[in-house]
Amino acid sequence: GARPAAAYLEGLNPEQRHAVETLDGPVLVLAGAGTGKTRALTTRIAHILATGKAHPSQILAVTFTNKAAREMKERIAALVGGVAEGMPWLGTFHSIGTKILRRHAELAGLKSGFTILDTDDQIRLLKQVLQAENIDEKRWPARQLAHLIDGWKNRAIGPDKVSAADAGLFANGRGPDLYALYQERLKILNATDFGDLLLEPIRIFRENPDILADYHRRFRYILVDEYQDTNVAQYLWLRLLAQGSHNICCVGDDDQSIYGWRGAEVDNILRFEKDFPGATVIRLERNYRSDGHILASASHLIAHNEGRLGKTLQPQGDIGEKVTVNGAWDSGEEARTIADEIESLQNKGHALNDIAILVRASFQMREFEDRFVTVGLNYRVIGGPRFYERAEIRDALAYFRCVVSPADDLAFERIVNTPKRGLGDASIALCHAIARAQKIPLMAAAHIAVDSGELKPKPRAALKDVLDHFARWSARLDQITHTELAEIILDESGYTEMWKRDRSADAAGRLENLKELVRSMDGFENMAGFLEHVSLVMDTEGGAGSDAVTIMTLHAAKGLEFDTVFLSGWEEGLFPHQRSLDESGRAGLEEERRLAYVGITRARKRAKISFASNRRIHGMWQTSIPSRFLDELPEEHVDVLEAPATFSSSYGRSRFDGLAPFSSSYATPGWQRAQANRAAPQAETFRRGPRVIEGELVAKSTGTSAYPVGTRIFHQKFGYGHVAMVEGNKLTVDFDKAGQKHILDSFVEPA
Ligand code: ATP
Ligand code: MG
Repeated sequence: GARPAAAYLEGLNPEQRHAVETLDGPVLVLAGAGTGKTRALTTRIAHILATGKAHPSQILAVTFTNKAAREMKERIAALVGGVAEGMPWLGTFHSIGTKILRRHAELAGLKSGFTILDTDDQIRLLKQVLQAENIDEKRWPARQLAHLIDGWKNRAIGPDKVSAADAGLFANGRGPDLYALYQERLKILNATDFGDLLLEPIRIFRENPDILADYHRRFRYILVDEYQDTNVAQYLWLRLLAQGSHNICCVGDDDQSIYGWRGAEVDNILRFEKDFPGATVIRLERNYRSDGHILASASHLIAHNEGRLGKTLQPQGDIGEKVTVNGAWDSGEEARTIADEIESLQNKGHALNDIAILVRASFQMREFEDRFVTVGLNYRVIGGPRFYERAEIRDALAYFRCVVSPADDLAFERIVNTPKRGLGDASIALCHAIARAQKIPLMAAAHIAVDSGELKPKPRAALKDVLDHFARWSARLDQITHTELAEIILDESGYTEMWKRDRSADAAGRLENLKELVRSMDGFENMAGFLEHVSLVMDTEGGAGSDAVTIMTLHAAKGLEFDTVFLSGWEEGLFPHQRSLDESGRAGLEEERRLAYVGITRARKRAKISFASNRRIHGMWQTSIPSRFLDELPEEHVDVLEAPATFSSSYGRSRFDGLAPFSSSYATPGWQRAQANRAAPQAETFRRGPRVIEGELVAKSTGTSAYPVGTRIFHQKFGYGHVAMVEGNKLTVDFDKAGQKHILDSFVEPA
């Protein structure tokens, strides 16, 4: 048309403009990654405001994360200038649900200052419900009940609506009753959980047509990003609100539906056209994010899924760099290689902010965090606490700290009743009183409390038992290796058992983290040295605000983009994750493949995939097979940099062979290394990284140290330095930063 386009419309392609300018009636934008869906949605808000179709407060926009909401607010402010009087209702389902529920709290039997329970609070409340009903918590854990209730709430099923078929086996089918009791308790506490933030408004809207009509007048335009990941409750909530104006615009990509395990229903996309007849469906096919090789690889991979709507994607940028696949001997080498690559990118002038490492499981982060601290690379962890800050890791560390320094009161207090040993507040208060009065550490005070006769028999026995344990563990500090001791402590304290009995969705991940913790202790001389290292890691800032590499899970990376993306741990069992295969078969595998598609399509310029041939899973070294997803990448768009020989012939593996020129390129030190490792005794071989092993082999065969005076070496804790003196296998090293130290040569590696 001849109409001059507003500045904010410039640069949009015709389909995007169609999505922006079709303001009346339902619109569904269904398009692949990086096609500008979010950009179109944001511009649409600008367009509504600029054309005066609505005030900001008459727009409701839903994003998947708070971070996305913040970014969208910034983008809108930039598009419309500072003029926006007030802002749209823009946020996650939870945040908007809260805002609405606060306005009508009394209709939900709440007072407006109600509290929102987090997952821990929710579990504690469910435990009370179970206790009140005399249900054996060992047999029927509260976390499992929480999972069940969340599942019902995701599907918008109230306690009275659970069908017999859905009731489940929990407590012999009593799940729905317990659900009802839980809801009663919530009301008494003037509290809600996350699920209620949408379910209560849905009920209020249904029971109070006048209130719903009010919202229909208010929300002239509704916009939803990442629509493929909405669950049934979210869908019903949206549909109720949209019945007024019918001006609802949803954007999504069925290939990026990755929250099925949390109740998301990709069918909501298919339902859209049925529920909103006459909807305009727009497809975007130009990808502005990723260079050609990257996009071709992602498209080829996702084509292996059967249950998809299917779409074409045209790259708009250059063909760019091929996707790389790099095999490492083990996860430690993988982390070292990636850190090296990042340093070299940095030296070439790339900002760390433009680089991300995406992992499948959070336990994988630890190795990167340690390596980055050692070499001094700034990083931030998104979507979860950093490894050493996780609750289960802090608990475990508290045990170790008590053993090394019995005067560590904070540590003792943290774990004296974790797992639950039947020590009530009164027992702990008594210990505190004694400690204060006699000015002694809490653990010493606990000994006195046990002998004082002031404790009831049960807590007395429990406390005595813990103290006896600590005495035994301390005595063993110098007798066995600190990793063995760590395992014994986690085992005998009942801490590992606590998580094993726990049937919640995240328990398995926590157990993985605990195993990873023990594994991370390997490189240190003793427990005290390890704890010192941890406190150093904890001390470094999160890198917020400054230039830093981002480390996050694939799930958290949705919607984001980076110039360079490292995709780590592409191994069978890790990615695709074993749990997803065991529990949901082909559907699970397809969701994992969508996750791989999300991962690759985060990259603008460089996608670098890696896998390790050896990784500890659940604390056991396992020889892993490269992920089947590697076989599904198109050969002509991928460069295979290095692939260890381990799996080419010896493991009879073929799928990935076609892609990898192993035979010629890998008759190299790495191959010999693999051979040497297999010949050596297991425990010794696997305890340390490969480079150290090479050093040891040399040392044994020549009878002298592998590190003559003057050699430049690297030590996990002390960093870089020069060997100043050699005495058998003992080295005196002048470290650049840490000064002179005496260490065993098996703890260093060549720099
Ligand atoms: P995802 O599915 O991953 O959420 P998306 O479809 O939401 O992706 P956007 O994040 O909106 O895609 O856009 C991807 C990138 O392409 C962004 O950097 C965006 O600024 C850019 N982009 C979008 N549309 C255009 C366009 N018409 N011209 C140039 N660049 C564009
Ligand atoms: Mg997006």
